[in-house]
Amino acid sequence: MTTPTIAGTRLAQNYSPLPVTLVSGEGSWVTDDEGRRYLDLLAGYSALNFGHRHPALVAAAHAQLDRLTLTSRAFDHALLEPFARALAGLVGPLLVGDPLVLPMNTGAEAVETAIKAARKWGYEKRGVPADRATIVVAHGNFHGRTTTIVSFSDDPDARDGFGPFTPGFRAVPFGDAAALRAAIDETAVAVLLEPIQGEHGVVVPPDDYLPAVRAACDEAGVLLVADEIQSGLGRTGHTLACEAWGVRPDLVTLGKALGGGILPVSAVVGRSDVLGVLTPGTHGSTFGGNPLACAVALAVIDLLTPGDLQAAARVRGEQLGAGLAGLVENGVLSGVRRAGLWAGLDVRHGSGRAACEALLAHGVLAKDTHGRTLRLAPPLTITSDELAEALARTTAALTRV
Ligand code: PLP
Repeated sequence: MTTPTIAGTRLAQNYSPLPVTLVSGEGSWVTDDEGRRYLDLLAGYSALNFGHRHPALVAAAHAQLDRLTLTSRAFDHALLEPFARALAGLVGPLLVGDPLVLPMNTGAEAVETAIKAARKWGYEKRGVPADRATIVVAHGNFHGRTTTIVSFSDDPDARDGFGPFTPGFRAVPFGDAAALRAAIDETAVAVLLEPIQGEHGVVVPPDDYLPAVRAACDEAGVLLVADEIQSGLGRTGHTLACEAWGVRPDLVTLGKALGGGILPVSAVVGRSDVLGVLTPGTHGSTFGGNPLACAVALAVIDLLTPGDLQAAARVRGEQLGAGLAGLVENGVLSGVRRAGLWAGLDVRHGSGRAACEALLAHGVLAKDTHGRTLRLAPPLTITSDELAEALARTTAALTRV
């Protein structure tokens, strides 16, 4: 018996990609199987913050490929502690307390890890009755695709058909600090938020929101967990998006760009009394913190340490904002939200998908998030000329949709 296929493919249809097949990439550019070149304004949903095949990252990967790639955590390896120290050095000053680092692979795994640590901390350190811990989350969130994480999503596509769901989450409107404060009761152990909601369309909260969330967490003695998997590591012009509001989370989840667009690398970084509740045997991953991942992530941290890329995201972000303002003025876009080199665009006519197809035809890669909204997240390494070219193509494409 042959395996049934859908329209000639053996791939499960959990994606609906744009009709382009990519074969190579360098910097901000990718090339398809017919030799056409495109400016990549999606950048792997911000996993490619340093562009395609950044020389320093490729060199670090090549060197490590020739040495040691995987040990499992059954054994130590020479890059694990340096990786933890370097990541704690980069983001530790932006967090509450003296951090530990727990390496994982995907973003969803990092979020799951943070949820587990927060719950166990709540039981052991705050005396929350067993199995009663709640975590306050925001409507419109996107934290990944595992069963527990989709349990507190309000996106029907992400959720429907996947129950029964994990209990223990309470969702409140994003940006409404009073609602969040009211949702924190004696069972609450943490508030889990994206400081800026990426998948929801780069939704930036009011300026007083995150400081008020921090204050509410402090008053109730619950953890603030910032999911910076998409917003972190330079994208908004800061190492962490939370910096823009002077807010220090207790735990932060990082992923995507931490692997330099080469391999999946994620981590939870945060308070040692919280991550310290995870003891041998309580949590783990075969691949988390592997030597190849640590080598690439160390090179990523080196790239981010001087702050030049964060500064570039601010400068190029202004350029992006100015270009998109023109599209609002001429009526092509009904709205734009932006933080650094990251923008959510609402097209006035047609769908986000149709807009992305028009961009594709003009040699620009982007992806709709939902409905009429698409997101632009060019590599932080994009040059001024490349961004000007991308904006000219975007204007030409969207003006015709
Ligand atoms: N958290 C946020 C904020 C994300 O944007 C994403 C992915 O888009 C994830 C978590 C999940 O990451 P992954 O796809 O690596 O599991």
